[in-house]
Amino acid sequence: MVGHELPVYRTEARSILSATCGFLAEAGFTHSLTPARNCTFGCTYCYVPTMRVQGGLKPEDWRRWGQFTTYKSNAPELLRRALRPNQVIYCSPLVDPYQPTEERERVMPRILDALIDSPPAVFVVQTRGPLILRDLEELRELARRTRLRISVSITTDSEEIRRLYEPHCAGIGERLRMVEALDRAGLEVYATLAPLLPCDPERLVAAVLHITGRDIIGDPLHIRCTKRHGATTRDAARRIGARHDHTIWLDAGFQADLVANIGRMVEEAGRRFVAGPQGFGRLARN
Ligand code: SF4
Repeated sequence: MVGHELPVYRTEARSILSATCGFLAEAGFTHSLTPARNCTFGCTYCYVPTMRVQGGLKPEDWRRWGQFTTYKSNAPELLRRALRPNQVIYCSPLVDPYQPTEERERVMPRILDALIDSPPAVFVVQTRGPLILRDLEELRELARRTRLRISVSITTDSEEIRRLYEPHCAGIGERLRMVEALDRAGLEVYATLAPLLPCDPERLVAAVLHITGRDIIGDPLHIRCTKRHGATTRDAARRIGARHDHTIWLDAGFQADLVANIGRMVEEAGRRFVAGPQGFGRLARN
């Protein structure tokens, strides 16, 4: 894992589960769980800081995205009180639960213990952090009690692109090996091509088909011209795109064709590709 020491703060939250709306509700999730505010992976395209107060952020978070994080120190206790058997929970739309600071903070094992004691109907972990492999024991126990699904973000096949747009994330090879390791541990793990960064689509598809026998999930970059309000791609990624002649990859029509092209390639290989809310609905289904 790529590690870097960044400031960690703690705060007492008033609640830990949020009722979903929009994309996640459409996919079938009833609640989301966000253990921290601000994500130290600090991806240049991350849509969360563009949500500002609607993403539960403070101005310092969107101005210094990725430079620190604030944990909800009472998250496990709040969760124990909020869990119900019919909930379909996505963790997390606003932070990676296995961001680098989780290595020392160790909030996820306590969250997983709470889930083991009062399992919801479905629990989904969305991550790109190989640190998740630390918690295999808790994850396996939770999988025995409920539908646990892990979705691993694979954004490109190119290390050069990965270093440009998400320099603090683990390498793509390590993320592919993480999918294999979670699968070997008997967990239901998906390779999720989201958001789609500049890539060689054929190589990307070949890489994920090689490591998993499950459906492939995908989602394009969120782009302002097709989405006038709400979450969208950060300016930092736009600047990188302009400098490196990737502007076309931020074009909505180009991304739609890319998604369709990837779908065709996956289907020609006799497998299934599901994108957008329908794709994430694959994770939510009970
Ligand atoms: S890992 Fe996810 S939440 Fe964290 S900065 Fe990257 S895109 Fe944003």
